[in-house]
Amino acid sequence: MIVHGLRLEKNIMTELIPVLNENEIKKLVADIAKNISDDYKDSEIVLIGVLKGAFVFMADLIRKITIPVKIDFVALSSYGSSTISSGKIKLTREIEIDLKNKNVLIVEDIVDTGLTLKYLINYLKSFEPKSVRICALLDKYERRETEINVDYACHRIKKGFVVGYGIDYAENYRELPAIYHLRNVD
Ligand code: 5GP
Repeated sequence: MIVHGLRLEKNIMTELIPVLNENEIKKLVADIAKNISDDYKDSEIVLIGVLKGAFVFMADLIRKITIPVKIDFVALSSYGSSTISSGKIKLTREIEIDLKNKNVLIVEDIVDTGLTLKYLINYLKSFEPKSVRICALLDKYERRETEINVDYACHRIKKGFVVGYGIDYAENYRELPAIYHLRNVD
């Protein structure tokens, strides 16, 4: 339950500071979907969603894309329940769809250090796709530790830990329809 942006979770009071509201997200997703539809017109495209954080974004995105798409999901673990990246990445769900000679578009919630995507791109390239591009809901461009080019970014933020619209903190907040910065209140 959120009251004036405050939420009580296991006796820790957290403050949710709005980053993007529902309407803003809707417009950003529609705009990106149009760019993707234009760029991939007349070519086959497979969207690979990164679980769990990108599932809401992926669901909204494919319903705004106006060309036929195929989809699959991978799951990667990188953060655990901490807000600080461990830098250790593990694939916990493999793709099932054939990627050979296909145009692959990775759909990610947040690109932060870029280490997760670097790992994922290498994994996907082993299936010999025609191309691999990246679509991210949020691009934390100042925190990059490896060179990753985000081809389609809905929104760019400098820093801060965000939740909502599918994005969690320790499995909480995914159900929120908007995106917030999460801050612990002492
Ligand atoms: P990277 O490998 O680019 O540092 O981290 C990417 C992953 O870290 C994202 O897919 C996401 O799961 C997680 N992550 C990065 N920043 C945030 C954040 O602000 N909030 C949450 N909940 N997860 C984040």
